[in-house]
Amino acid sequence: MFPVLHQEVNGKPLVYFDNAATSQKPIQVLEALSRYYREDNSNIHRGAHTLASRATADYEKTREMTRDFINAPDETQIIFTKGTTEGINLVASTYGRKFIGEGDEILITTMEHHSNIVPWQMLCEETGASLKIIPINDAGELLMDEFDRLLTEKTKLVSIVHASNALGTINPVKTIIEKAHQKGAKVLLDGAQSTAHLEIDVQQLDCDFLAFSAHKLYGPTGLGILYGKRDLLEAMPPYQGGGEMIKEVDFAGTTYNEIPFKFEAGTPNIADVIAFQKALEFINETGKENIQKHEAGLLEYASRKMADINGFIPVGTAAEKVSVLSFLINNMHPFDVGMMLDAAGIAVRTGHHCAQPLMKRYGIEGTVRASFAVYNTKEEIDRLYDSLKRIAKRRN
Ligand code: PMP
Repeated sequence: MFPVLHQEVNGKPLVYFDNAATSQKPIQVLEALSRYYREDNSNIHRGAHTLASRATADYEKTREMTRDFINAPDETQIIFTKGTTEGINLVASTYGRKFIGEGDEILITTMEHHSNIVPWQMLCEETGASLKIIPINDAGELLMDEFDRLLTEKTKLVSIVHASNALGTINPVKTIIEKAHQKGAKVLLDGAQSTAHLEIDVQQLDCDFLAFSAHKLYGPTGLGILYGKRDLLEAMPPYQGGGEMIKEVDFAGTTYNEIPFKFEAGTPNIADVIAFQKALEFINETGKENIQKHEAGLLEYASRKMADINGFIPVGTAAEKVSVLSFLINNMHPFDVGMMLDAAGIAVRTGHHCAQPLMKRYGIEGTVRASFAVYNTKEEIDRLYDSLKRIAKRRN
């Protein structure tokens, strides 16, 4: 079902444990991409011909399926971007520039991915707003007392990662959203890691924005989704100017299109949007609950098993985690461990995971990260264990 998984790497059957970076794609997604280019390829929304109408209908069907996937009230609140990064930049450039000014504060956390740090730093530099950081404990959990202290009338936006890519920590976002709203602040959730693992209902969460990436959800690269509350999206100026995002253009002035098109300038990523349907179908058919149960079982098994390795140091031991196991082996460089695992056919990620401030918090340069998806098995974790045990022994 996942063709890429059926291969040998360095003479060993591939074990793919780099799912937090990107997940593999089921065959249906690959076939949908090829089918689109073979049968329907055309530009959407403008064409009078049959191929264009078919492609437009299919493209818009994905918007409706995505709406359903996160239980958004209306499909016009689903904006296609090129990834989580672009979704966050879009909010910073439009909502941020219009509604955040000098003296205002933006709250983020120590465990943010660079894509949820740098856009806010850029906005602060431009507007004179300031960035405040909610600290964490050694286990990698937010210090909620500090959050309460930092959240004030000055806070205009809280932008937090729902689940950390580097530690796996699931943050108590429902509480954070409630408290932020009491102070009149809006909340953006970085759902890059949470959407593949957790049931997401934006109405129940009551978040103001949610940004995520299709490629971490068994879908194609180059596609992201930004959800926003209707009144906010309508009040925000456009992100980029061009075709599609206009109602009428005149040299005397231009009027902008309705949402979501106001934020989708130019020819979008049609093929990947259409193929994403197959990824959503795969998740829906498998069931988020089953996915979660399977991955929680793998994480629990792996955490327990690796603890037995002399020199295994877990990084991030929060009580609530998605299936991410970050660790160090003795005082070995994570990259060396990664290379030795690769020689054994096991793909993991090593380094700072685009979370350098978090690594600094732990006083380390990086970690080795094994992250599990629905297709991983306990037998594969046994192979990781055997390899790590050999690697650790070598350095003891
Ligand atoms: N936030 C988190 C927590 C992530 O894990 C990632 C991807 N590693 C991103 C944001 C950025 O996602 P993308 O590169 O798909 O834009």
